[in-house]
Amino acid sequence: MDELFATVRQEPSQTLDGVRVSLLLNAGLSADTDIAMNDTADGVGLFRTEIPFMMRDRFPSEQEQVASYRRVLTSYVGKPVCMRTLDVGGDKQLPYFPIVEENPFLGWRGIRLTLDHPEIFLVQLKAMLRASQGLDNLSIMLPMVGNLEEVRVARRLLDRAWREVSAETAEQQGVVRYPSLGVMIEVPSLLYQLSELAPLVDFWSVGTNDLTQYLLAVDRNNGRVADIYDTLHPAVLRALQQIIDAARHHAKPVSICGELAGDPVGVLVLLAMGYRRFSMNNSNIMRIKYIVRQSRTDELQKVLREALSHRHGGAFKGVFGRYLQERG
Ligand code: PEP
Ligand code: MG
Repeated sequence: MDELFATVRQEPSQTLDGVRVSLLLNAGLSADTDIAMNDTADGVGLFRTEIPFMMRDRFPSEQEQVASYRRVLTSYVGKPVCMRTLDVGGDKQLPYFPIVEENPFLGWRGIRLTLDHPEIFLVQLKAMLRASQGLDNLSIMLPMVGNLEEVRVARRLLDRAWREVSAETAEQQGVVRYPSLGVMIEVPSLLYQLSELAPLVDFWSVGTNDLTQYLLAVDRNNGRVADIYDTLHPAVLRALQQIIDAARHHAKPVSICGELAGDPVGVLVLLAMGYRRFSMNNSNIMRIKYIVRQSRTDELQKVLREALSHRHGGAFKGVFGRYLQERG
């Protein structure tokens, strides 16, 4: 199979009816492999910055962060790199910053923690900005946003970080461009605030892993309830359709960076809904490119209508699975 997928390596990511899609990389786990993907991925759709933090025994200094972010940005010159601010808490713990809570997934996670510690947040933002000096491919994304005030405060801190870095680097060569700022859509409360969110940010990226967990109230890592962690549950699909519709309405670029984008049936459902930017682990990129290149969006829209007419989530796996099989 791998040889089959490798045949599309140099081919464009486009469907049989000529619709171009972006296949981006979820990076952070294995920096070297991820960097080596720079000729096949269309960029980095999610750089999980907490991973390098987790592999240390203390907070990395600003200089250490600059070096690691610069490495990624320069490996993808001319391609977009979306860096997510620290997303610790929940299942991601720093050994040197223990958080003990009854309900970690509902607790001090992601943006909640970094806004309570602006000194950590500012150092990270400044490191990202310094790393991007002379380049134009950085965008920044906020995890676990649940209300608009978090975005407003984060934006003010980014403004401040940018002003300070720009003033310090004014004499040096290469300006620091003000980056695009986006949010992960993964806390369900955002689904009801998309119109108000739209003017505050430049893009959205859907974190289907957490969005599914929080919509269904099912722990994403608990084997006991794994069979009801249904990534194609009708409520999840409805939310995904609502997000793409709102993104179109507000002309907001939107991508998917949860595992669903790297899933063969998942990507077909998302293509049918209208999504065109998918971010996934490096091991999935070739397979998904192969599948995209065997598909037609006009056919997929019909398949979506058929699956919706069955009115139960299981139909999606069956109906889209058949489409997949028919195309080898
Ligand atoms: C997600 O929640 O879908 C996501 C991409 O973020 P993470 O898996 O890092 O929580
Ligand atoms: Mg998440």
